[in-house]
Amino acid sequence: MPSVFIKTYGCQMNVRDSEQVARDLASRGYDLVEHEEKADVVLLNTCSVRDMAEQKAIGKMQTLGGRKKRRQHQVIGFLGCMAQSRGASILDELPDVDLVVGTQKFHEVGRHVDELFRQHRENPAAVPAPRVDVAEETGSQNTIRDHLLAPRQVTAFVSIMQGCNMHCTFCIVPSTRGAERSRPLAEIVAEVESLVAQGVKEVTLLGQIVNLYGRHEFPSVDGRSPFTQLLQAVCAVPGLQRVRFTSPHPIGFKDDLIACFRELPNLCEHVHLPLQSGSDLMLKSMHRAYTRAGYLRLIDKLRVAQPGIAFTTDIIVGFPGETEENFRQTCDLVREIAYDNAFVFRYSPRRDTPAATMEGQLPEDVKMERNQELLRILDEIAAQRTKKLLGREDEILVEGESRTNPSRFQGRTRTNRLVLIEANDRWRGELLPVRLTESTGFTWYAEPKLV
Ligand code: SF4
Repeated sequence: MPSVFIKTYGCQMNVRDSEQVARDLASRGYDLVEHEEKADVVLLNTCSVRDMAEQKAIGKMQTLGGRKKRRQHQVIGFLGCMAQSRGASILDELPDVDLVVGTQKFHEVGRHVDELFRQHRENPAAVPAPRVDVAEETGSQNTIRDHLLAPRQVTAFVSIMQGCNMHCTFCIVPSTRGAERSRPLAEIVAEVESLVAQGVKEVTLLGQIVNLYGRHEFPSVDGRSPFTQLLQAVCAVPGLQRVRFTSPHPIGFKDDLIACFRELPNLCEHVHLPLQSGSDLMLKSMHRAYTRAGYLRLIDKLRVAQPGIAFTTDIIVGFPGETEENFRQTCDLVREIAYDNAFVFRYSPRRDTPAATMEGQLPEDVKMERNQELLRILDEIAAQRTKKLLGREDEILVEGESRTNPSRFQGRTRTNRLVLIEANDRWRGELLPVRLTESTGFTWYAEPKLV
């Protein structure tokens, strides 16, 4: 059977969607390969969150298109967010592309690839017409449910919903991922039970706006939101050691969800809580639906519920109209909260988003300066944290070979700190007590605490 290589750009949702596509193709008999050179099918699962992400995928596809001239029967295609937002127009720029499949049609990729190969077999001299499938499909959120676990894999992503109705003025996600659509609670719990039965010890619940899961589809019960009900049900799965979720929105944290951090022992003490800006003026212009004071109150409430909780965040610098004063407010809030880490993005105008045509677009050098300044502040905070935590004991879930240094194993603490230890197969997949011995500020080194 032909071989397939899938390259994934962007977020964990994309990684999860690629896994589902890989699983479907494998079940149709395709061989999944690690390298594109020899692959008969090359699929790029794309991201549109910033222009740079799109340009990277387009650049890659131009290279693939060039190579395809020597391998007429190769199938090359785009999947995901950029495929959704550009659709058939991408073929004008890249005529060698055979397949363009949007974010609500991942379950159709296998059928399209089969069809392209059937046409190749029946008429080797002809080049099949490209296939474009970017329609919306009711229930598509329920098609991301199967896994392709590696041997002794102990962590897994579970997609619980798709789409977002928030419409932040800088964000292209609502137009690429569509409206919020949640999966039935029982199906998600069954998926988690099956993962635990296959040896998984930690699951991360995924959604663009994960803690607003089911707000349009399912009722609150006894003051508990659909997401809190789901979290409680997932945490109650026997044998599941750790639960995480990403990416939440601050407005989705009501007291019932905050209480979960006090009451659910296997809910990990980490929240990725996008801030975007520390200025109320910018938050309003971004349509983020919370204020600086409201965000801080939430942080305080979560710290009361779970004193050891760690926070990471997303911040945009250089949003249209951002003054030096607005930026200072962001810097001050970052210092005050002392995040474990933050993903800092220079504002990138996105197609058909309100912010792209706003007054006060800032020059790139100003964005770069503010980006550097914020990274400096995060380094200072990390250096403080390193002083405090060095020599401390903690527990990691050993995932296996480090992605950056295969001679070491990697694992994460419950507070989501990345820890590297010496590679030793007997620790693979284990919850291991360790002593933190060194840190780069964001990556930690540790030695197992042998009893
Ligand atoms: S909540 Fe997140 S995904 Fe939704 S529009 Fe805002 S930034 Fe985009």
